[in-house]
Amino acid sequence: MSTPTRITHLVGHASWQGRAERTSEVFNPATGEVTGALDLASAQLVDEVVAHATSAAQEWGSVSLAKRVRILFAFRQLLEERKGEIAKVITAEHGKTYEDAVAEISRGQEVVEFACGIPHLLKGGFSENVSTAIDAYSILQPLGVVGIISPFNFPAMVPLWFVPLAVATGNAVIIKPSEKDPSAVNLIADLWREAGLPDGVMNVVHGDKEAVDALLDHPEVKAISFVGSTPIARHVYERGVASGKRVQALGGAKNHMLVLPDADLDLAADAAVSAGYGAAGERCMAISVVLATDSIADELVAKIAERTRTLRTGDGMGESDMGPLVTGAHLDKVTGYVAAGVAAGAELVIDGREGAADLGPGFFLQPTLFDRVTPDMSIYTDEIFGPVLCIVRVPSYDEGLQIINDNPYGNGTTIFTNDGGAARRFQHEVEVGMVGINVPIPTPMSYYSFGGWKNSLFGDTHAHGIEGVHFFTRTKAVTQRWLDPSHGGLNLGFPQND
Ligand code: NAD
Repeated sequence: MSTPTRITHLVGHASWQGRAERTSEVFNPATGEVTGALDLASAQLVDEVVAHATSAAQEWGSVSLAKRVRILFAFRQLLEERKGEIAKVITAEHGKTYEDAVAEISRGQEVVEFACGIPHLLKGGFSENVSTAIDAYSILQPLGVVGIISPFNFPAMVPLWFVPLAVATGNAVIIKPSEKDPSAVNLIADLWREAGLPDGVMNVVHGDKEAVDALLDHPEVKAISFVGSTPIARHVYERGVASGKRVQALGGAKNHMLVLPDADLDLAADAAVSAGYGAAGERCMAISVVLATDSIADELVAKIAERTRTLRTGDGMGESDMGPLVTGAHLDKVTGYVAAGVAAGAELVIDGREGAADLGPGFFLQPTLFDRVTPDMSIYTDEIFGPVLCIVRVPSYDEGLQIINDNPYGNGTTIFTNDGGAARRFQHEVEVGMVGINVPIPTPMSYYSFGGWKNSLFGDTHAHGIEGVHFFTRTKAVTQRWLDPSHGGLNLGFPQND
């Protein structure tokens, strides 16, 4: 077994040279080996990084849009060229397949491409002659230093949801990646340096609750973008807002797919299996519940089971469709849910625990399928975040819709039907932030915004798109008059337009 590699903070362009009081282990989930020793930041180190970022933000906020755009284009080119290298690191720490890791970087890259249009996106309004010889206009200015806290499941894409727009709008960034797979962000930060981003505009602080809370409490950190589980999202939102910050905190999910009797069942089964087991179910937009209408339920379950049995689980660098879970602790949690589902009386159609040990010492669980799940079971109520797909049988559209709307999460959902009227009704009636129609994972493009409803998002601003531009800027409204000889004289009345 080789010595774990030290992974440390990036204070601007430089690797941190201090000695960490606390470290945590990073695993290769496919082998179970400890491959990294991650430095965990103290609150004092967070203070030092904020000070560095604050002085960088003052200069960066005044850099011309033309220069910012050149850096964004250069970064986009480097990201394109180094995608394979970053993807290998993701697979080695997260476990997802190499192809899936490349795909997540590509989706993140789309936000960089959107951010390259920042001169257009930052255009304020202008109204000439709002009153005689008076003009009004608005400008969007950076906030200063912003914090980004990301989850383990998309170690490149989620940071790329935020960093390009935060930087493009003139802010300095401190990002705290997940401690489970921290290396991708270090590589990405290096690309920003190579692209010409000035020192201190992009900083990486690794750590856990101590670092997160230090960012939340620091008065110089003006905004926080968080993505992670619902309990932590709620904590981040409440603590960040209490200290006067702007916060967007995206939380967990339980995504339902409703299959109506007129749907193409082959298409629906393909979609359920792809969206249920892709990335071993460790996606915030994974389908975890299929609501099968009674008349087609037997046939649909058979088609899903048939496809599920063909999936190959293994090392993400090999010939597999699905990799291991991220850590041993997470594997234990997910297998605990499988046991709870059996105990609660759900029908275990495919038991992914069988044969998992034969795959090696990594954190493997094979695809698991439950039928006849009911909404009171923990496999339905809780976000499992693993390769466990649950079928809930419903009499019709109405009961299916009711189940989705009663669920406390509201991240993503999808309907499979050939009835345009039913689909249109669904997109109007469902209380979920991102909706698919015959599309398994309805993840919005970079120029739309990403975000759920209810317990899937705290705050009122979704990620990227125009909402992202607004999140990282504050608007100033200016009213101007250039005096000419016709003006003058005292008037203490409230300004009137004439
Ligand atoms: P997590 O909540 O455990 O961790 C997220 C971040 O918060 C990490 O950086 C972690 O270090 C930090 N953190 C953990 N515990 C903390 C604490 N007590 N105080 C302060 N900070 C803390 O989430 P995860 O397991 O890394 O990621 C999976 C979760 O993220 C799932 O619930 C998934 O649905 C969710 N997710 C949501 C979206 C979305 O867009 N809504 C996207 C991706 C992932």
